[in-house]
Amino acid sequence: MKEINQKEIGILYIVATPIGNLEDITLRAIKVLKEVDLIAAEDTRHTLKLLNHLEISKPLISYHRHNEDVKTDILIKELKEGKNIALVSDAGTPGICDPGEEVIKKCIEENIQIVPIPGACAMINALICSGLDTKEFVFIGFLPLNKKNRKEKLEEIKNTTKTIILYEAPHKLETTLKDLKEIIENRKIVLARELTKIHEEYIREDIDKLIEKAKEIKGEIVLIIEGAKKREENNFLNFSLEEHYQYYKEKGLAKKEIIKQIAKDRNVNKNEIYQKFINKSEI
Ligand code: SAM
Repeated sequence: MKEINQKEIGILYIVATPIGNLEDITLRAIKVLKEVDLIAAEDTRHTLKLLNHLEISKPLISYHRHNEDVKTDILIKELKEGKNIALVSDAGTPGICDPGEEVIKKCIEENIQIVPIPGACAMINALICSGLDTKEFVFIGFLPLNKKNRKEKLEEIKNTTKTIILYEAPHKLETTLKDLKEIIENRKIVLARELTKIHEEYIREDIDKLIEKAKEIKGEIVLIIEGAKKREENNFLNFSLEEHYQYYKEKGLAKKEIIKQIAKDRNVNKNEIYQKFINKSEI
């Protein structure tokens, strides 16, 4: 088997599985699932359904949030004994709001090879279809449940100009939207629900409008939120010096103040700006 080497120490494959549509499994994922010695699954019953669908029969071991410590040690032992293991979660990419981190860190410490088998991930698919800026984004996952931590997290992201991605459960949607509104204020938001499933839908609104609908929204949800508007000052570089001068003049600033402000916005020495305007009659 090319994919899996037969060295003494096994390999840990991090295998993405579908997030709804069972056809979203890669050929490589199927091959790895067929060829590993063991599959570590977040919920073995859930994974068994997928394996049955793929007609794969393999020993399964549970690896979920509440047993990550103990199971990590067991998996490391199996890997050291030469077993190749596939780690899967209930849906999508392991380690993304799903268990995986612990065993991956431990493998790195122990010099055990880790190989990702890419596939579905709800946040990436929600982002690419959102129509919001995809150049830069911040993935938050689920907001903390604790009120204080939640507020702190929202304060932390309030001023980011990057697109923000959140995971949320439908029964908490309304509260989350209200918390968002309170701290980051009204903005464009895209709610992507039931991705890859029959009722896949994108609701493109602003936060206020979405709050009105929140109670009726069901299913699995990703929220993609427009980043904060770039501060006006950041756009000054697009201004000519004349336009920049005019901008502050219209705000009623005195000549000296205008020069100081322009120099600050453009991060240059104020004498340089002064020289540029020296012949202007009003300076
Ligand atoms: N590991 C997964 C991934 O790669 O996206 C995420 C697992 S996390 C426990 C589950 C959350 O992911 C859901 O509450 C929802 O926010 C999002 N999610 C998963 N599947 C989804 C789908 N089909 N449509 C929309 N959101 C989904």
